[in-house]
Amino acid sequence: MSSPSIAVIGAGVIGLSVALRLQEKDHHVTIIAKDFPSPSETVDPRAAINYASQWAGAHNRFCPPRDDIDDALAARDHAMSLVTFDRMDDLARRHPEAGITFMKGVEYLEDPGPEYRSLSPVRAAELGYREFRLYRRDEFPDDRVKMGFEYRTWCVNPMVYCSFLLRRFVRRGGRVVRRELLREREAFTIPELANPVRVVLNCSGHGFGDPNSFITRGQTCVVANECSETVTRQKADGSWTFVIPRNFDGGTIIGGTKEPDNWHSEPSPDVRTRLLDTLASTYPPILQTGGGKMHVLSDIVGRRPTRKGGMRLEKEELGDGRLIVHAYGLGGRGYELSWGVADAVLELLSSGRARL
Ligand SMILES: Cc1cc2nc3c(=O)[nH]c(=O)nc-3n(C[C@H](O)[C@H](O)[C@H](O)COP(=O)(O)OP(=O)(O)OC[C@H]3O[C@@H](n4cnc5c(N)ncnc54)[C@H](O)[C@@H]3O)c2cc1C
Repeated sequence: MSSPSIAVIGAGVIGLSVALRLQEKDHHVTIIAKDFPSPSETVDPRAAINYASQWAGAHNRFCPPRDDIDDALAARDHAMSLVTFDRMDDLARRHPEAGITFMKGVEYLEDPGPEYRSLSPVRAAELGYREFRLYRRDEFPDDRVKMGFEYRTWCVNPMVYCSFLLRRFVRRGGRVVRRELLREREAFTIPELANPVRVVLNCSGHGFGDPNSFITRGQTCVVANECSETVTRQKADGSWTFVIPRNFDGGTIIGGTKEPDNWHSEPSPDVRTRLLDTLASTYPPILQTGGGKMHVLSDIVGRRPTRKGGMRLEKEELGDGRLIVHAYGLGGRGYELSWGVADAVLELLSSGRARL
């Protein structure tokens, strides 16, 4: 009998990262997905609205765990972001074509929570921040900002990066099947797969009917103005403004909204105006590269696959030797945590009864 293969449902940043890590361990892997990486310029934004990886910024912004309480999930996610940081650093050095750029990340906070207030240079070094520097008050853009700092971080052009991952996967012998599935279990029965499938990885973003899953709508705007750093401002009212350079001719992302359970698929012109004005007042240099104006290329509406209680990272043994591993619900952090999630999936697979 031929050796069993693993089916990965999903060709977003999570499915692709997981599939590549499995290949590194010599597994035969097939990716089954409805959506695959495509140039955003040619994609129908309504048809692909649920494919979050297509519409991400995407930058890495560390979310520091608090030092005064024991929050295992926050600590786990932070550890995953560090794993991802190192892997991105390595990929960027060895593969300039991967769509990754390292740069300065700037953060301004109007109402910093305890996890930020404790962020001294010593604490930042403990948490793995590189090239961290706290800003003086005279470096803040205005009086509403109460804290500011910078560190070394990375951004990706999402579809350049995901296409790079997909090409690597196929060049190493991975197979792809474009299919919409009704349930995870359907992946055990895909006729194109000659080898029996014993393991299915559910990297479907939103899951299959998970009552804890919900969407967080994000509206952003792509401009032609250029920018050499990523800047994020958390406002006191809970809203955000950020700029993310995409590079690789991808323009610059100005964002953005975070709207739980908002299903509107069309971009709002008023929101676009507000996003551009707010960013320009926080970060005026963005206007200089456009001769004093913003040059809008397109609006983006995407749905972050969010989940009450955080991502689902869990092994489900079906009792007949078959296994489903769930890795979905990454919300707004799929790129940031991707390689950490891939490692965690590998650990789940090598533990317990259904050891691979
Ligand atoms: C506006 C916006 C900005 C963002 N900015 C950032 C950022 O700066 N940094 C960051 O880290 N993250 C960011 N994110 C979040 C990030 O995009 C997501 O966390 C990430 O893309 C999730 O990846 P995923 O692979 O889990 O899901 P997805 O990218 O949604 O991929 C899911 C895959 O599963 C497939 N699939 C789903 N259901 C089925 C089915 N029934 N049958 C077959 N295939 C199926 C899909 O076709 C797709 O291939 C942002 C998101 C948005 C919308």
